[in-house]
Amino acid sequence: MPSPTPTPFTALYLTKTDGAFTARLRDDLTDDELVAHTGEANVIVRIAHSTVNYKDGLALTNRSPVVRQWPMVPGIDGAGTVELSTDPRWSVGDKVIHNGWGVGETHWGCLSQKARLKGDWLIALPTELSTADAMAIGTAGYTAMLCVMALEDAGVRPDSGEILVTGASGGVGSVAVALLSGLGYRVVASTGKLDEAEYLRALGAVDILDRAGLSTAGKPLQKERWAGVVDSVGSHTLANALAQTRYGGAVAACGLAQGMELSTSVAPFILRGVRLLGVDSVMCPTVRRQQAWARLATDLDRRKLASMTRTIGLAEAPQVAVDILAGKVRGRVVVDVNA
Ligand code: NDP
Repeated sequence: MPSPTPTPFTALYLTKTDGAFTARLRDDLTDDELVAHTGEANVIVRIAHSTVNYKDGLALTNRSPVVRQWPMVPGIDGAGTVELSTDPRWSVGDKVIHNGWGVGETHWGCLSQKARLKGDWLIALPTELSTADAMAIGTAGYTAMLCVMALEDAGVRPDSGEILVTGASGGVGSVAVALLSGLGYRVVASTGKLDEAEYLRALGAVDILDRAGLSTAGKPLQKERWAGVVDSVGSHTLANALAQTRYGGAVAACGLAQGMELSTSVAPFILRGVRLLGVDSVMCPTVRRQQAWARLATDLDRRKLASMTRTIGLAEAPQVAVDILAGKVRGRVVVDVNA
């Protein structure tokens, strides 16, 4: 596949040599290097916007083994314009979104002005969204939508009762609160940032819980409260959410911000018929992704999305990575790769 513009481009660049990790900006990357690290990919995308998700935070700080090939251009998400394609489904000028698929882990990613991706991985940018909107949503927001869809598939409806959203001020949590409230659910937001209560109420939460009440080990069955839960936190928080879910309710679990372990009992499942729904965005089949993005284009209030989003340049991404792992980032961060 020939390169259309052999001019150098800028990207974040991660290396690990003799165990020493570095993350830096390079403005002299070449198409030859891009081709060498992107295998059988068949679409070159001129990236306009990317983002810093929790997983990007792990990659950019080398905190856990997210990156499995070196050197790496990180960035699991990107939105931009097709510059060259040998895939018949994609033409020059098409606006596209990319989320997941191991990009930024084993394949050079989108915290870059240019990415070389597989046509199979791309989703057409919905006409209602700009590339900046799409990255304000990003994997975090698309995963929040997958969680909402999982609850809906389990029969949870706005009149079923209250929905708990954990990690509510984070990326998944903020979008989940906005989406669910827009769909007519009564959303209770659990947060460690009680000073963000007004922010969460503006997104649509009707009540705020101090996450401290959920984050230590609790009884296997507790007072029934939730018709549904969107949990991006895992660990004791997820165990307590299960223990507080009402008879026949459902819990969508997508994250591990508190921890990966889950110590619970079968009691909620066998005595209350509670369902635990696993949600994965990375390898999610294309049809489900298209459904999620179509729903995001119509169901997510764009003013709420703007209120949870700030925009940075590529050079600021490493600091945001540190902040997101420290739980300090509110909402979503868009990266303008040309800033
Ligand atoms: P963020 O960092 O934006 O949000 C996570 C939030 O969790 C924080 O803002 C904080 O919210 C809360 N939190 C942080 N640390 C703790 C803690 N120790 N105990 C309890 N709560 C804590 O990350 P994202 O929203 O982008 O991602 C959240 C999780 O979802 C991550 O684990 C990520 O890996 C996972 N994820 C999984 C996906 C999948 O495909 N399954 C896709 C996308 C994300 P607050 O202060 O409001 O409590």
